[in-house]
Amino acid sequence: MNEHDMERMSELLIDSGFSCVSDTQQADVVIVNTCCVRAKAEQKFYSRMGRLRSMKKKNGAILGVTGCIAQLEKEHLFERLPFIDFALGTSNIHKIAEAVEQATKRAPYFDFSENGCNASFFVKPNNIKGSVRAYVTIIKGCNNFCSYCVVPYVRGREVSRESAGILKEIRELAATGIKEVTLLGQNVNSYNKNRDDISFPELLRGINNIDGIERIRFVTSHPKDLSSELIGCFGTLDKLCESIHLPFQSGSDKILKLMNRSYTRNDYLEKVALLKKRRSDMALTADCIVGFPGESEKDFLDTINLIEEIRFDGTFSFVYSPRKFTQASALPDAVPGELGLERLRHFQNIQKSITLAKNREMEGKRVEILVEDTSKNSEEELTGRTRTNKIVNFKGNRDMINKLVEVDIIKGYANSLWGENPKAKGGTSC
Ligand code: SF4
Repeated sequence: MNEHDMERMSELLIDSGFSCVSDTQQADVVIVNTCCVRAKAEQKFYSRMGRLRSMKKKNGAILGVTGCIAQLEKEHLFERLPFIDFALGTSNIHKIAEAVEQATKRAPYFDFSENGCNASFFVKPNNIKGSVRAYVTIIKGCNNFCSYCVVPYVRGREVSRESAGILKEIRELAATGIKEVTLLGQNVNSYNKNRDDISFPELLRGINNIDGIERIRFVTSHPKDLSSELIGCFGTLDKLCESIHLPFQSGSDKILKLMNRSYTRNDYLEKVALLKKRRSDMALTADCIVGFPGESEKDFLDTINLIEEIRFDGTFSFVYSPRKFTQASALPDAVPGELGLERLRHFQNIQKSITLAKNREMEGKRVEILVEDTSKNSEEELTGRTRTNKIVNFKGNRDMINKLVEVDIIKGYANSLWGENPKAKGGTSC
C-alpha cells in the first residue's frame, strides 16, 4: 500500500513539473512516507529524520512527512520535528502538489482530515515507468480492530471505491501495456460489503473480461471475509492467479481470541482446504506474529504445527510489538524479548526449509512467466514471476521483457527459481 502511495505521489509531482532523483542529497523536495505498524519502522523514521535535518540545514531542501506516522501524530509531529515543511495524513496524499507548493512559499502545510478519501483520493497512476504490472487501490481503511493493529486508527474505516472507476482505470492501464494488476486494500475481500455496488467476486469477473489484462492478484485478505463465492473464482476466472496471501497470525485459538481475529484455527484450516480443493497448485503465503502477550510454549507450538501442516510457500513473520491506542498494548503476560526472538528464529528456520522444499518441488515443471526486467545479477539474465508469484531467473534476450513466456524450472533455491526457456534449447515457447 505504501509503495503504491509513493508511486501516486511521484506521478502527481511529475505532473507538476518535478522529476525523480536517485540521490536524496540532490533533491529539492524530500518526502518521507511512513509506516507505524511496527515499533521498529517508527524508530527508523525518527533516526532518518535526524539525518535529513542536517541535510536540510546544508541544502535547504523542502522536507515533508506523509503516511501513518503523520496521521498518528498529527500536529504533534511539528513539535517533535519543527524543521519539517509539510505533513499529510493517509487520506490526503493526493494533495501532495498543493503541500509542496505551499511549502515553497515557506508556509508549513498539513492536512490530517479523514474525509479526504473521496474520488480524487483514488487518483490513477499513469504508468510512467512503462511497467507491465500495476497496483490498483479498491478499498481503503479497516473495520476489524485486531487487538494488536494500529491500522484502523491511522487508515480510518473501510471506504470502498466505486467499481465503475476501478474498471475504467484498469481498462486505461491495459491500454498502456499493463498486463498484471494487483488489487490493493487493507482487507480487499470486504470490498463493498455494505454498499449498493457490485461485490468483490463480481469485480473480479469484470476485470477478467478486460482485454490486455492477463493476470489478476489481490492483497490482503482477512480469513473471515474469504467467502465461498470468492474461493469459487479460483479455477473459474482464467486470469485470477492461483496464489493468495491469507494472514493467519497465530495457530492457537487462545491467542487468536486475544488478537480479536474472529476465526479459529479450524476455520482457517477449512478455508485453506477449500482453496486447495479449487486449485491443488494454489500458492499460499501469510503473516504471523509470535510472542503475543500470553503466548505459552504450547500456543507457539500450535503455530509451528500449523505452518508444518499447511506448508506455506512463504510467510512474513514478526515478534509482537505493542502499538499506541491498541487493546493489546494493555494486555498482561508480555513474552520476554529474548524469548520472542528465539521463537521467531525457530519459526523462520522451519519456514525456510518448507519454502526451499516447495521450490525444489517445482524442478522439472514448465511454467508461465511474466518477464519484468533483466536480473540484478546479469544483463544476460531475465527475471519474472510465475502465476504463483515465485521469482524465476533465466537466460533470455531483452525482447522477452514485458511478455509472457514459458520456462522450464531447472533448480529451486531458497528465494527464487532458476529456469530455462525451451525456445533457447530448441523447444517451443508461447
Ligand atoms: S484486518 Fe489487518 S489491517 Fe485490519 S485491524 Fe486486522 S491486522 Fe489491522
